[in-house]
Amino acid sequence: MAVQHYSGGCQCGAVHYEVDVDLDRTVTCNCSRCRRVGGILAFAPASAFTLTSGEGKTTEYLFNTGKIHHLFCTTCGIESFARGTAPDGTETVAVNARCLDGVDVKSLHPIEYDGASK
Ligand SMILES: [Zn+2]
Repeated sequence: MAVQHYSGGCQCGAVHYEVDVDLDRTVTCNCSRCRRVGGILAFAPASAFTLTSGEGKTTEYLFNTGKIHHLFCTTCGIESFARGTAPDGTETVAVNARCLDGVDVKSLHPIEYDGASK
């Protein structure tokens, strides 16, 4: 698949974005949040992500080390993306592949990340 262009967002449409991301490299996680939310994450540099609507329409949630800014829609509650910083310092966005338009998530093969042990 390599890097391709996608649009995505929350359920109600208040939050919408465009992103260039590689869905060959997706991750699920078993931390206390991810095991509840069930998202399939794909990572892209912040420079490859454009929030086209929804600035100011999200609530931020921080937990554990507080390094990942979980942003969910204040209307419908869906967390379609999060912001953080990669270990090398790159500003990074994690998009939830379940929130991307036209993606069949059954075709993805996410790596299981053991966030519960970190
Ligand atoms: Zn929404």
